[in-house]
Amino acid sequence: MTDHSTDVAVIGAGPVGLFAVFECGMLKMRCHVFDALDMAGGQCAALYPEKPIYDIPGYPQIGAADLIDRLAEQAAPFKPVFHLGHAVETIAPSGDGGFLLVTASGTRVTARAVIIAAGVGAFGPNRPPLADLADYEGRSVFYLVRRREDFRGKRVVIAGGGDSAVDWVLSLAEVAARVIVVHRRAKFRAAPDSAARLQRLADDGRIDLVIPYQLYALEGAGGQLSHVVVADLDGATRRLEADALLAFFGLAMNLGPIGQWGLVLERNHIVVDPATAETSQPGIFAIGDIATYKNKLKLILTGFAEAAMAAHAIYPRVHPGEALHFEYSTTKGVPGGVPGA
Ligand code: FAD
Repeated sequence: MTDHSTDVAVIGAGPVGLFAVFECGMLKMRCHVFDALDMAGGQCAALYPEKPIYDIPGYPQIGAADLIDRLAEQAAPFKPVFHLGHAVETIAPSGDGGFLLVTASGTRVTARAVIIAAGVGAFGPNRPPLADLADYEGRSVFYLVRRREDFRGKRVVIAGGGDSAVDWVLSLAEVAARVIVVHRRAKFRAAPDSAARLQRLADDGRIDLVIPYQLYALEGAGGQLSHVVVADLDGATRRLEADALLAFFGLAMNLGPIGQWGLVLERNHIVVDPATAETSQPGIFAIGDIATYKNKLKLILTGFAEAAMAAHAIYPRVHPGEALHFEYSTTKGVPGGVPGA
């Protein structure tokens, strides 16, 4: 028994997976989309939502989160079914030429073809080793910022010393009631210009630097923080008043289960035929950052083109015996007209 059956299963709801839904939709193929994260957008949403991207054709500049919103809007007329917060664990032949996918939570979906758009693999935050952390996660402890407005007027402790931590200090200093930066070293690993701006904010008394300290304990009730306790290298502690803690200790990235799917890999990437994006397993395709071939460029726009090629290569599997007449989108249009028009 399976829970769902579809034409194409797309693993990864990053920018490239989302565009694959559009390309498949234009060729009358329905998609179910899986992502280990509980939101769409992949690296754009999780790592740099408010940064501008300059090399998306037609957009001289677009914020990463805005790009994801537009890709989701572009895919919407084709009614994709999203399984967010569901990592795909296994792919196996379903016996009828298709595939059975099973997620970590036990959801089972059969598909005529699979597109793996899994980026750098399933990724999640490196979590600080603090007692009772889970009680606060998602309520007052966060590993990414979806909207900086959520922190307006709040006392925010930001832990970490890399680009994400420093970028968010610079940004949230404009809206938060107070920003306290906790880092276990005196020096920040961020881009020199950003680190210098952070130092200027500290010199002007607009943020507090608590260095070299590391996180030690959380205090609060019902998931709401009241204090973050930090310790110096000798173990002496300080209690910092806080409404929220943002911990930026990087994302753990690994291929995860993808390495067990029997596909030919090269340095943790899936080897594909660049003409079709098909992997060593017929019917399973890989696109975007996870796919590799000679001279591969890991860019969003490259992934978009790979999505189009994969969709065309998949078409005969979903519509056997039906000739595929190439048509421009200007000729075909999209269901329901132009999204957002
Ligand atoms: P991703 O965005 O990595 O998304 C893959 C998704 O697959 C993830 O959400 C992951 O959770 C999910 N996944 C993985 N394994 C599984 C599984 N087993 N089950 C379910 N889900 C799974 N590129 C540009 O073109 N221009 C830029 O200016 C640019 N700037 C960047 C700036 C930064 C700071 C960073 C980090 C990257 C930048 N990039 C840029 C690179 C760009 O973000 C990537 O090329 C792009 O995100 C790749 O998209 P993707 O959809 O292939 O993969």
